Amino acid sequence: MDADVSPEERQERLRRLPAVDRLLETARGNPDFADVPPAVLTRAAREVIDAERRRLLRPEVSGEELPASALWPQRLREAVGRLMRPNLRRVVNATGVVIHTNLGRSLLAEAALARVQEAALHYSNLEYDLEGGKRGSRYTAVRDLLCEITGAEDALVVNNNAGAVLISLETLARGREVVVSRGDLVEIGGSFRIPEVMAKSGARLREVGTTNRTHRRDYESALGAETALLLKVHWSNYSIVGFTAQVPLADLVALGRRHGLPVMEDLGSGTFIDFSRYGLLKEPTVQESVAAGADIVTFSGDKLLGGPQAGIIVGRRELIEAIRRNPLNRALRIDKLTLAALEGTLRLYRDEAEAVRRIPTLRLLTEREETLLPRAEALRERLAALGDPRLTVEIRRLSSKAGGGSLPLLDLPSPCLGLRVQGLPAHRFESALRRSEPPIIARIEEEAVIFDLRTVPPEDEEGIVAGVARILREVASCA
Ligand SMILES: *Cc1c(COP(=O)(O)O)cnc(C)c1O
Repeated sequence: MDADVSPEERQERLRRLPAVDRLLETARGNPDFADVPPAVLTRAAREVIDAERRRLLRPEVSGEELPASALWPQRLREAVGRLMRPNLRRVVNATGVVIHTNLGRSLLAEAALARVQEAALHYSNLEYDLEGGKRGSRYTAVRDLLCEITGAEDALVVNNNAGAVLISLETLARGREVVVSRGDLVEIGGSFRIPEVMAKSGARLREVGTTNRTHRRDYESALGAETALLLKVHWSNYSIVGFTAQVPLADLVALGRRHGLPVMEDLGSGTFIDFSRYGLLKEPTVQESVAAGADIVTFSGDKLLGGPQAGIIVGRRELIEAIRRNPLNRALRIDKLTLAALEGTLRLYRDEAEAVRRIPTLRLLTEREETLLPRAEALRERLAALGDPRLTVEIRRLSSKAGGGSLPLLDLPSPCLGLRVQGLPAHRFESALRRSEPPIIARIEEEAVIFDLRTVPPEDEEGIVAGVARILREVASCA
């Protein structure tokens, strides 16, 4: 890279860089840096000098271009700002994908957060039986609620649903066969594939049927002395249409009963409410799976349920008890803050109207186009009021998605804003938005940057206006 820079020139340039101590000297007494830990300040100074060193060694940079002395404190301030900023931080989700796995999946209800705060700041009866004054079970906090809501005999929670599937298979079928339809051998993303989880659990996969059609006789002819379990996996993140046949859960249960075999269903997304009642697509509920007689049902806490990341296992008492006693349970143990958040979320489900109103995931999924439209219009006005003739903003009737591998066929009509800035290609506009503070995550459609307000709470609109205004200023100063 620096092949064109002569060794003498190189020396000369580097000689003019300030030493770390000298740069730190400029920060001394400056109130901007008063609260910055010395180690951070030193690291920032090194980073600023290193960046300048790399720049100076680039052949296209002339040696005259050393930064003016006034620029150094400014650079130092920026570096300190970067280092002091939390790595995990808030962003504006303008994608319209409600359960956005990369952006944190579900948002917690305030009521759930209150439970987390109490459990975090105070001692609690996490594993303490207040009646008996002795050791208790950490699952007590959610077990009754889960049984009450789903109708199951017993319940257990682990770290996530991948863990729930793994520990259930390991407990019920290690070293033996699990019969699964070929159509159910799904990949969830992030390297969770049913055949691979099965292998990790030590259970042997016995595939039956075909991708699009599996019949009861396919399951039946696979049963034998080695069979431990019948498994059904809900197609939460895809759909097969056309010439298809699946065996309903109730029929699989009947088959299992006849052969004395348990039936497990991995629901994935897991919902307690029937979305078809809200004009959305029908998604099987946990209650329906329990009522159909599934012996074990597993699902996520942070997909359609709208709670914290967790894997929930409900089902028959003796099977749940066996899973609870599995040593893997210790490795997959749910953390107390998660448990508190889950309890807070589950309590809201005792009243469905309350759940839909107070659990953000449910509220956003059921938000109507009519209530989003005035917000879209108001935001368009605010952006137009920036008064920049290069910016055009129009309202487009597009669709939001559930995301998180849930309800793949669902299109939620949503009035979105489509923005274009003359002289700024959409992909550069989109990446500039990501560098805003807070970062704004949007998508591109037909050369316009799209803001879908379904996933943008009103308090985030200010950040969007400020972000767009900053980008317009930067474009102006570059032009
Ligand atoms: C999402 C999903 C999982 C994994 O759940 P996590 O909570 O993300 O670990 C497992 N099975 C199915 C069918 C899923 O949709």
